[in-house]
Amino acid sequence: MKEFDTICAISTSLGIGGISIIRISGPKALSIIKKIFKDKDGKEVNELKNYNLKYGYIYKLNSDEVLDEVLVSFMKGPKSYTGEDVIEINAHGGAFITNRILEETILSGARLAERGEFTKRAFLNGRIDLIKSEAVNDIINAETDSSAKAAIYQSKGIISDKIKVLREKILLLTANIEATVDYPEEDLEEVTAYDGIKKITELSVEINNMIASFKEGKIIREGLNVVIIGKPNVGKSSLLNSLLQENRAIVTEIPGTTRDIIEEHINLDGILVKLTDTAGIRDTDDVIEKIGVERSKERILESDLIILVFDRSSQLSNEDLEIIESIKDKNFIVLLNKSDLNEDKINIENIPELKGKKIINISAKFGEGIENLKEEIKNMFFSNNIEVSAKGITNLRHKEALIRAEESLNAAIDTLKNVSAVDLASIDLKNAYISLGEITGESTSEDIINKIFENFCLGK
Ligand code: GDP
Repeated sequence: MKEFDTICAISTSLGIGGISIIRISGPKALSIIKKIFKDKDGKEVNELKNYNLKYGYIYKLNSDEVLDEVLVSFMKGPKSYTGEDVIEINAHGGAFITNRILEETILSGARLAERGEFTKRAFLNGRIDLIKSEAVNDIINAETDSSAKAAIYQSKGIISDKIKVLREKILLLTANIEATVDYPEEDLEEVTAYDGIKKITELSVEINNMIASFKEGKIIREGLNVVIIGKPNVGKSSLLNSLLQENRAIVTEIPGTTRDIIEEHINLDGILVKLTDTAGIRDTDDVIEKIGVERSKERILESDLIILVFDRSSQLSNEDLEIIESIKDKNFIVLLNKSDLNEDKINIENIPELKGKKIINISAKFGEGIENLKEEIKNMFFSNNIEVSAKGITNLRHKEALIRAEESLNAAIDTLKNVSAVDLASIDLKNAYISLGEITGESTSEDIINKIFENFCLGK
């Protein structure tokens, strides 16, 4: 166990609520709480039972002034969230009183925690690995069933266990290969090389499958960026409203996100879909409109899918053609809207860019065809069922480290095939071992570790 100072923070979100929790972690947690907490009779509390709640009052330090009526819990390290002694003060949920109690814990000797510092301690104290730490943040930020499920799987160790097994196998192989150096008979080298190639190929295939799972895993964790595009009046807003009606996701506001183009989140059977209604993409001299157009173009570039909307009841215009031209290299599907009017004036058969594209008739106004659209989006991105995809790789950092590991394994195979000194392959194997360790945190640089925890909220 490493020696750290004692930290404190408000762990619940600040606002009006039933309760709020001030958390203290570190070697001085108990002595700090004793300075400001007294029982119902105003007596000092000399002992707090592990895993018990104690009723009493928080006082201003060195004074008789009561600040709040609270419940205090004690979780003795190493069996606590951080692995250290942890105290949690359950206070009345109000920003003023919660902050006052926090101030007293600081005056009593704790330091205000940094973002994610409690979880970082859990990691540094060896309670959880880096994947599980990242999963904690993913659980907090999950907006749909599948993203929450994927995060829970990871926090329970589904990826950690796989990485652990892979690393053990690589270590064993390295040891085998290095052992041949001590017995330099030709035969043995050949046998080791043959056997090594076979085993390393198996590992490489396994890693490759994990990398492949990221395509769907990323969507589960981060959602799908979908842009709705079409000329004015074709029914883009109506479509957006129709999709939102039953499926609006519970959105956590992320501070600092610009909201100047409309972005709405829907929950499509557990998949988060971030829908953007573009401001249009025509050439314009209007300065404000120009900014909107630039933003729309950026969104189109970043998108996973574009929904191109036409009005079935009117003929294709030059503006429609310009829009098709601007997205022709992207992944898109075509909606023919206003099908309820039964006026089939549009003809898109001779447009080469639309050949082979999925075309769906809808009536945004009456909600017809919306189910087809949703089904189509799911089929486009998920070959597996979503439950299976939630068990895959969802984090880009993990995927990149897996790619490095795979490259090192392939280099090891090349070495074994082409070089007579088989032990040279052990260098590549060690690199693969290190790359996998970067995922779990065994060989991750301090910079990266700090960056990961900086993305956490205060108090976690
Ligand atoms: P946007 O400019 O592309 O966002 O188009 P809107 O959603 O504002 O729709 C333009 C007009 O078309 C409005 O009067 C809508 O009521 C109408 N509209 C949209 N979708 C449909 C539809 O499916 N059927 C019919 N009949 N009218 C529609």
